Amino acid sequence: MKRFRFRGLTAACMQIAAMAGCLSAAGFSAVVGAAATDDRKLRIICFGAHPDDCEIQAGGVAAMWAAKGHKVKFVSVTNGDIGHWREAGGPLALRRKAEVEAAAKILGIDTEVLDIHDGELLPTFDNRHAITRLIRQWQADIVMGPRPNDYHPDHRYTGVLVQDAAYMVTVPFFCPDVPALKNNPVFLYYPDSFRKPNPFQPDVAVSIDSVIEKKLDALDVIVSQFYEGGANGSADLLPTDPEKQKLRHQQVRDGFARRNQSIADRFRVKLEEWHGKDRAGKIKYAEAFEICEYGRRPDKVELAVLFPFFAE
Ligand SMILES: [Zn+2]
Repeated sequence: MKRFRFRGLTAACMQIAAMAGCLSAAGFSAVVGAAATDDRKLRIICFGAHPDDCEIQAGGVAAMWAAKGHKVKFVSVTNGDIGHWREAGGPLALRRKAEVEAAAKILGIDTEVLDIHDGELLPTFDNRHAITRLIRQWQADIVMGPRPNDYHPDHRYTGVLVQDAAYMVTVPFFCPDVPALKNNPVFLYYPDSFRKPNPFQPDVAVSIDSVIEKKLDALDVIVSQFYEGGANGSADLLPTDPEKQKLRHQQVRDGFARRNQSIADRFRVKLEEWHGKDRAGKIKYAEAFEICEYGRRPDKVELAVLFPFFAE
């Protein structure tokens, strides 16, 4: 497979860029012509602190990329082994690994869980090396992770570790056992609601209406965290009556549907910018991402290549 390096742009992406006033008409036809036979695929790697974070934050766009043949990998930086009110340790880590593997199958992506204890992640040299190697081995064009402002220490340090890799992936003598990337990927943050020292500000917002059921199916198989409530759950969440169990599954799905609706509502202006005003008004579910200042800084034209979803 040819590597995707943004030297060509698809016709659809260029239309978006032209709509957004990024490109002259002459420039548009020149690049479209060059890209007409382009079959290169994107490679995306997403980091989350726990085996469920990537699925919540990027399950929709992951399914959309995968459906177009692009390669997506989710990495949980810890094994999630304290993430339950009733069970803990190795058996829980294995259970959670199996859950995200089932979710990955539904989304059509790869997944990996690192064997680091939940609640104990630190920005050590070893962990910086591990994240750097994973990004290089995946030959990533896009890297996603949380911002380093968050209530959970594992989320914060996952954010720090991904930021720490945002330049080092290009430095040949840092982790020389895995070849450095020639082109620095674009690093993107997931949304959160924390306002200090600065709130999340999306650069791109994507309708996930076409894949919302698939995303909800993927989240539904992460039973330990959502159906059973994870670390803050309780036996009260687990009815024995099959009808009530069905209702509980529906409650989980409805909760995540509402979460993605609130992202669409919160970032409606950004959806208008990317999807056009008419279409944006009808979008129900969305995911949104902010460009990290430390990786490559794509312009709007390149972002439209990285997110090839706006002309549909
Ligand atoms: Zn988490």
